[in-house]
Amino acid sequence: MKIAFIGLGNMGAPMARNLAAAGHKVTGFDTAAPAPEGVTMAPSAADAAAGAEVVFTMLPNGQILRTVADELVPAMAAGAVLCDCSTVDVQSAREVAAQAEAAGLGALDAPVSGGVGGAAAGTLTFMVGGSDAAFVTVRPLFEIMGQKAVHCGGPGAGQAAKICNNMILGVTMIATCEAFALADKLGLDRQKMFDVVSTSSGYSWSMNAYCPAPGVGPQSPADNGYKPGFAAELMLKDLRLSQQAAEGADADTPMGRLAADLYARFVEEEDGRGRDFSAMLPRFEGRGRS
Ligand code: NAD
Repeated sequence: MKIAFIGLGNMGAPMARNLAAAGHKVTGFDTAAPAPEGVTMAPSAADAAAGAEVVFTMLPNGQILRTVADELVPAMAAGAVLCDCSTVDVQSAREVAAQAEAAGLGALDAPVSGGVGGAAAGTLTFMVGGSDAAFVTVRPLFEIMGQKAVHCGGPGAGQAAKICNNMILGVTMIATCEAFALADKLGLDRQKMFDVVSTSSGYSWSMNAYCPAPGVGPQSPADNGYKPGFAAELMLKDLRLSQQAAEGADADTPMGRLAADLYARFVEEEDGRGRDFSAMLPRFEGRGRS
């Protein structure tokens, strides 16, 4: 297929490289990043998109996505699909999809989980919103870049799934970290704590697969000095998106709000920036109740 890829940063570059390595003709554009292996660079987003059957975007936020979509949509061939893989607010995803569909294009929001490692290995999970027809067109490409693509519903459903999942993740990571810090103060050995909780009703992905305590459970960023992994500031971004969505939908999400506030403090006032989001554990360790 002829593919355009706009936004070739930490995530976009390996995704585009994997598409090119599978034999697709990939034309890229980025305002700053260099060409990934196998990708031909175009002088603008519109030039990259002209004649492409599928145009991927992997951009920092919804505002940038809207600006880029204004340029892409008029340049795209009739019937082509605009597939945004960035994590953005649900409203931007829905409005960009409506803009593309009004111009006779297909549109998908397809945010990912799996991080930079998953992008490089081609093992991402895609959470997809949009029409059946657009999903069927892009599915073979999701299969190259990832191991799973779930069609969640209409426009915005992929972003909704992503921010709900990551709201749970932020809350359970905080709960796991504060429980470890309490266990420390009660004199409970961390390995015993893991052995019990990971097989009891307190278990979660945060405890079982990504344990925030160094030397306990499977290998995780905690075993590597809390180098990300999934950076605390990206968790903050997703928690803020979940609160923005909750406000728009009048949903009561008190734990999500607390998690967003705590990660904001951690990243913006403390030493969380550039550390993995599981570095909440050393944060709690050093603190008392006041
Ligand atoms: P990044 O900052 O490394 O890459 C974004 C790229 O977009 C940059 O290369 C930048 O130059 C480019 N860009 C910005 N404005 C542009 C424009 N107008 N036209 C063309 N290119 C432009 O970010 P990333 O880590 O690759 O993340 C991309 C998206 O994926 C974000 O929405 C992020 O939330 C999401 N995401 C990231 C991860 C992760 O672990 N990094 C995991 C899941 C989802």
